[in-house]
Amino acid sequence: MSASKSHSASLNTTSGTSSVPSIAIIGAGLAGCTLAHQLAEAGCRVDLFEKSRGTGGRLASCRVGEETADLGANWLEWEAKPSAHHLPFQDWLSKQEAEGHLHLWQPITQNFQREAQPDRKRYVGNNRLSALTRSLINHNNITLHSGIRVESVKPRMSNGRSSLLLTDTAHHALGTFDQVVVATPAPQAVPLLKAEPALQALAQKVQPDACWTLVLGFETPLSTPIELFEGEHPVLRRVVRDSRKPGRHLAEDIWVIQAKADWSLQMVDDEKEHVQKALEHAFHQLMQSQPVADSARCHRWLYSTCTSLNLDSGFLHDPQTGLSVCGDWLAGFGFEASWQSAMALSHTLLSGLNK
Ligand SMILES: Cc1cc2nc3c(=O)[nH]c(=O)nc-3n(C[C@H](O)[C@H](O)[C@H](O)COP(=O)(O)OP(=O)(O)OC[C@H]3O[C@@H](n4cnc5c(N)ncnc54)[C@H](O)[C@@H]3O)c2cc1C
Repeated sequence: MSASKSHSASLNTTSGTSSVPSIAIIGAGLAGCTLAHQLAEAGCRVDLFEKSRGTGGRLASCRVGEETADLGANWLEWEAKPSAHHLPFQDWLSKQEAEGHLHLWQPITQNFQREAQPDRKRYVGNNRLSALTRSLINHNNITLHSGIRVESVKPRMSNGRSSLLLTDTAHHALGTFDQVVVATPAPQAVPLLKAEPALQALAQKVQPDACWTLVLGFETPLSTPIELFEGEHPVLRRVVRDSRKPGRHLAEDIWVIQAKADWSLQMVDDEKEHVQKALEHAFHQLMQSQPVADSARCHRWLYSTCTSLNLDSGFLHDPQTGLSVCGDWLAGFGFEASWQSAMALSHTLLSGLNK
């Protein structure tokens, strides 16, 4: 993949022969918002459709009591090992920090055996991680259509020109577009790729991980200085003191407790109350005390991380129909893969549009 040029790619709108193409992106997570930003910076107009009220997808936040907490991924960080796609995620994170969209956080960390762990650079958002996706799409060329679930993507042919028609769950037309990008988790991409069985079959291969997450708020801060626990544990994946992230200034001490993927899968259909009790119990054992939370929220993520197709390209693109797909499940693991996939696709789309 020659995607390293994607930072400087721009749309040639001065050829006089072609009008600016219409582009729709489905999904306003990190992949969809990164792609929208790249295309908009290059001069494209983008319609971004998102089924939820806000942006962020799996970087979402939630209310707990009077406060806000990161309910999905806890932070962004880069892998020390070289990336398969050689795109500088690290540089991009530093740039977002320099522009004030991210803050560096080096939490006081222990493993679940209560041993100190080395510092690692992690980046957190302004009050919430999803503020980053908001800032990415804050662009005159991007129109966000939130609260709209796209139900189908259908190829159309008119005057020898192909386009793609989007409809919502009430079968209302949302518009026809020259290019449509599906930037959703694989299971949610499956119905949207019905017109392209080969792409649909690839999406069906991906196995998502579930993740039960409990957020607890305490009016009186817990006495421990520790801000993060992670490592080997039969139930817990990670316990994060969200209120200690830089710039939060919260009145409550907020803890985000994530369960491991295999435990979450075993409990996937259990009652929320039962799961909450089990996670509270594991938290009390870790804290060696039984603090009573003033607010709590338990959430089941059906899709958190997932297996990946690890495509060399990092994305799918059919130049005949104009349908493309990007996201973590195509390029590697987690948020870095989502970003890599979107950046690589932006380069291919812009190269194609400039021909
Ligand atoms: C609890 C949790 C912990 C995690 N921990 C880590 C971690 O430690 N490290 C790591 O690298 N990654 C982690 N991840 C994964 C990481 O958050 C994701 O890989 C990344 O954010 C995915 O971004 P995306 O844009 O590809 O997809 P998403 O964020 O899923 O965005 C897709 C968007 O599409 C929208 N959508 C879906 N279907 C439709 C439709 N039909 N119409 C309109 N909109 C639609 C969704 O609402 C969503 O907003 C975690 C995720 C969770 C939930």
